[in-house]
Amino acid sequence: MLKAILESAVAAILAIDSSGRIQIANPAAEKMFGYTADEMIGKPINILMPEPYQGQHDSYLQRHLTTGEKHIIGIGREVKGLRKDGEIFPLHLSVGTFEVAGQRFFSGILNDLSARARLQAEIDRQSLLFQAVFDHVPEALVISSPDGEVILVNPAATRMFGYSTEDVLDLSTLFANPQDLEKLETGDTDSVGGRTIAVPLRRRDGIEFPGQGHVADIVGADGSRIAIVSLFRDMTEEMRQKEAALKSQRLEAIGQLSGGIAHDFNNLLTIISGNLELLEETITNKQDHDLLSRAARAADSGARLTNRLLTFARRRQLASAVINLNEQVRGMTELLRRTLGDTVELRTHLAPELWLARVDAGEVEAAVINLAINARDAMPDGGKLTIRTENATLEEGEIGFEGPLTAGEYVRISVSDNGVGMTKETLSRVFEPFFTTKPPGRGTGLGLSTIYGFVKQSQGNITIYSEPGAGTTVNLYLPRSIDAKQAQAAAAPETRLAKGETVLVVEDNRDVRTLTVKRFERLGYRVVECVTGAEAMEVLKNGLKVELVFSDIMMPGGITGLDLGKWIIENRPSLPVILTTGFAEEIAGTVTTDEDSWTILRKPYTQNDLAEIVHKALERQTA
Ligand code: ADP
Ligand code: MG
Repeated sequence: MLKAILESAVAAILAIDSSGRIQIANPAAEKMFGYTADEMIGKPINILMPEPYQGQHDSYLQRHLTTGEKHIIGIGREVKGLRKDGEIFPLHLSVGTFEVAGQRFFSGILNDLSARARLQAEIDRQSLLFQAVFDHVPEALVISSPDGEVILVNPAATRMFGYSTEDVLDLSTLFANPQDLEKLETGDTDSVGGRTIAVPLRRRDGIEFPGQGHVADIVGADGSRIAIVSLFRDMTEEMRQKEAALKSQRLEAIGQLSGGIAHDFNNLLTIISGNLELLEETITNKQDHDLLSRAARAADSGARLTNRLLTFARRRQLASAVINLNEQVRGMTELLRRTLGDTVELRTHLAPELWLARVDAGEVEAAVINLAINARDAMPDGGKLTIRTENATLEEGEIGFEGPLTAGEYVRISVSDNGVGMTKETLSRVFEPFFTTKPPGRGTGLGLSTIYGFVKQSQGNITIYSEPGAGTTVNLYLPRSIDAKQAQAAAAPETRLAKGETVLVVEDNRDVRTLTVKRFERLGYRVVECVTGAEAMEVLKNGLKVELVFSDIMMPGGITGLDLGKWIIENRPSLPVILTTGFAEEIAGTVTTDEDSWTILRKPYTQNDLAEIVHKALERQTA
């Protein structure tokens, strides 16, 4: 029976005699120390002890035997054991004493505490980890009691809210509207068992900022709420970026819409002004002629308007050239002085050694005039207008009107005034077409929107700074030109007459086609008409003799003007092709690498433009 108890005991049981030698060791003791019972029996007990126990044991035993001091006797203490393999481990030891036949013995019951020690180490490790996370997460973490008294805040929270860790405060004081806390506590829980809301927060100094709050309960084993964890994020930067993205999306959408309308109008205006031009030549009556030129002028204004819309929508074909913006500004100062009047003082600061810019000179001029007029309007009682040019390198991460600017080298042209400036609301909408704060008849709202589109399409950046009462500065960043080719002056157009060549006109729109045919005939060319690209290929395959092909780019039926052009290059390489379009975009999207090899005429065009381009194409052919 006793033997069975020894054998089955979960605790290690050892007995030693009064000289400290092991007399009994049960199987649990073998397992605990790694020795067999035979290896232990007869050996001094201190082989199972690490220092300092090893050295102390004999003297304790001696003292107990001589003075009865019970240092080692009694219920449990935590000590260390030494395994055969050298491992030191914590154990719980209770020592008793007994006599058999006048001989003194000591019994020990030992429990291995390694598992508990491992658990403790794990708990220590976890709390270290928790502390590290708590200290280093960018989000503010606040732990409070169920009634809202703050118990613990992390460093991010003290930074975000401006309180020190010691400041005792109530959770609700972190909210701009304290009742928002209730919303967080009672709202629907999300997938991670908490509640999240966008909520304005308040710093200690009273400053409010957009935030996101997340609250989760810490529930005890009995299901009661023992604490609340709140996590806060400062959303200022996100909101700013979101706003900027929304703003540019809105401009993009307006651009799509107005670009589409402008494109259709361009086609209509091409028909109107073209037909008017043809009519003009047949009319001799002075009165009818007046009516006609009024209509033509209106069509011209319409074309200018649609062109500005196309510019805003970034669908204008820009005539980019290498220009020196200083020369450009110098060339404009007289015009600007006259435009601005006597009350506005014009100053220019032109940087020496200014880089050359690659940009459409006409558009830059229009932009500067528009900016100057805006400045004049902002200074009804006079003021200063400054135009400044500078080399500017934009680094990664700089912020402009609609988020980050594109890094790179630019030539910057700035137009500043010390006029009335703009409110935040006005500033946020100035690039929208038709947005104006001016009385009807004074403003069209197409100034800044057009500039915006032109700058964007030129791969530039635009930034604008304005303070009510202080003034406004608009900066245009125009891309630096790397090759130093000089600007080419455009040749003055003149009407050229044909020598009876035949032109193949390909155009799906009946009215436009009829007009185009008439225009060519008026210039002295013979014309063959085709409605689709496929039809044109067919007649060319059948051996039709023509000297030039004039085709619209966008045509239904799968074969575009570009496809036709490519087919001609392959099959009739000596036949010149002129393509026509209302969009710059169509061209940008399709003709990128070999843009120069196409001759493109943009709608709406005048009879002069047509004569010029056709003549050139034929001339190049015979040369
Ligand atoms: P418009 O001049 O026809 O109103 P813009 O697109 O040129 O159209 O300008 C839009 C609006 O932006 C103006 O109506 C005005 O409110 C504001 N704005 C533009 N430039 C300035 C400036 N230099 N100072 C103050 N406000 C300006
Ligand atoms: Mg304007």
